[in-house]
Amino acid sequence: MYIEAKELSKIYGKGENQVTALDRVSMEIAPGEFISIMGPSGSGKSTLLHLLSGLDRPTSGTLAYDGRDIYSFTDKELSAFRRRRIGFIFQQFHLLPVLTARENIVMPLLLDKKQPDEAYLDRLTQMLGIRERLSHLPHELSGGQQQRVAIARSLAAKPDIIFADEPTGNLDSKSGGEVMELLKSVSGEMEKTLVVITHDSRVASMAGRRLSIVDGRLLEVTEG
Ligand code: ADP
Ligand code: MG
Repeated sequence: MYIEAKELSKIYGKGENQVTALDRVSMEIAPGEFISIMGPSGSGKSTLLHLLSGLDRPTSGTLAYDGRDIYSFTDKELSAFRRRRIGFIFQQFHLLPVLTARENIVMPLLLDKKQPDEAYLDRLTQMLGIRERLSHLPHELSGGQQQRVAIARSLAAKPDIIFADEPTGNLDSKSGGEVMELLKSVSGEMEKTLVVITHDSRVASMAGRRLSIVDGRLLEVTEG
């Protein structure tokens, strides 16, 4: 999928309390790209990711997926589109504590009344090294394993693109590194587009294209 954002802005609050979280951000994302976006706390990273993934709507600006303006969708159409085409990985994993790893992974499919593709799930969980952990509850898994379950969940519905918001932010440096290597190799092998928000320069440097955001303005990072 080819994604084109034009002049996306997000303003929170009114009057004196007004905050411009995102200021006229334009960008294009080509199919299969791996993009990292770095920036300090409060610079607008999560706001941008929520807008790009249709989790939220902008104050102004447009967003097209293969030429279709997704903010023109109703909330219901937008959430169906997100469930089918977009995977999301959060810093805090957001696994449901009463469900096993496997139940968490297939949850997005069940919400869409779809049957899991068992061969695909088998390959996915094998690649992520969690196939022997599928009957465990989240609290029986390490942080790194929980995030790998969340990666499998984000890919369960075979989306075109994965957005990850500080996926290693809750992990120690070793397991964070392992999780990023796996996320990169799985999404590369499955030809997914990957957009990762991070404030870790090691994570950012794994990407094919690096962007940075400062005070809601997006900049391309050039090497050198
Ligand atoms: P980051 O992810 O880079 O830390 P955010 O995108 O979460 O930054 O936030 C950008 C700015 O917008 C911050 O100043 C934050 O306080 C503000 N902000 C984010 N969400 C809201 C909200 N729901 N209401 C009001 N202000 C918000
Ligand atoms: Mg954030």
